[in-house]
Amino acid sequence: MNRITFIGGGNMARSLIGGLVRTGTAGAAIAVAEPLADAREALAREFGVAAYADNAEAARGADVLVLAVKPQVMRRVCEGLAPAVQAARPLVISVAAGIRLAQLERWLGGRLPIVRGMPNTPALIGAGATGMVANLRVGPPQRAQAEHVLGAAGLAVWIDDEAQMDTVTALSGSGPAYFFLLVEALEDAAAKQGMPRETARRLAVQTCLGAGRMLAEGGEPPAALRRRVTSPGGTTQAALDTFAAGGFAALVADAVAAATRRGAELS
Ligand code: NAD
Repeated sequence: MNRITFIGGGNMARSLIGGLVRTGTAGAAIAVAEPLADAREALAREFGVAAYADNAEAARGADVLVLAVKPQVMRRVCEGLAPAVQAARPLVISVAAGIRLAQLERWLGGRLPIVRGMPNTPALIGAGATGMVANLRVGPPQRAQAEHVLGAAGLAVWIDDEAQMDTVTALSGSGPAYFFLLVEALEDAAAKQGMPRETARRLAVQTCLGAGRMLAEGGEPPAALRRRVTSPGGTTQAALDTFAAGGFAALVADAVAAATRRGAELS
């Protein structure tokens, strides 16, 4: 049985642990290190995992070590774990935003298989989108392990070039906020026409959900779906023409470019 240890038992670790347990990984195969006693006890109680206050103790015997602490403490956490990790050489997976593979490898003492994942907030409800990148020491069985762990909270896809992790951050990392903004704007637009806000919000949210499910479950590309709901000269066409005239696609490209640049500055 592979042993998976999480360092940090906060929101993201909880999502991944919950997903793993739901999809058949035994709680007994999972350990977690978390300094807060309440959080530690809750994880042990809910998922049957072994919970530790000490990072190195939790990491002992791990085949997969998931680093799920905040980026600001990552260096200190890695340096503290380096002796245990160098002795056992597990697959290391980090979910910390903006921390590069080379930094992780250096802080952990070098020469380790490492995967860096960038999940997003919907992972907290099992509907995450995660981009993952591996260093050259990660072989096929460990790639499968990383897919298993990071896929536990939703979709996980490989990115070949680490430079594109900033694009992942700008696309799916920040992406939920773009959809929230669109729903806000739709609600405002309907309210301006006199619709009660509550009604407008319910209709906008369900439309977002329905469109998302058609995209995810139907297998048809977005452009085909869009064309199917757009009759020439009809209402949807009138709205889409207005979006186009306002430079919608270019605005989205600019927004994603700005987020990508900011991601690169922060990492
Ligand atoms: P969180 O604050 O909920 O969890 C971090 C946990 O680490 C806390 O429970 C904290 O007590 C614990 N901790 C603090 N110092 C520690 C130490 N020295 N050793 C062990 N544990 C320690 O944060 P989170 O939202 O779960 O984020 C964790 C990581 O996931 C971050 O690096 C973040 O960038 C990444 N991430 C989170 C999200 C998200 O939507 N929450 C999305 C993408 C990436």
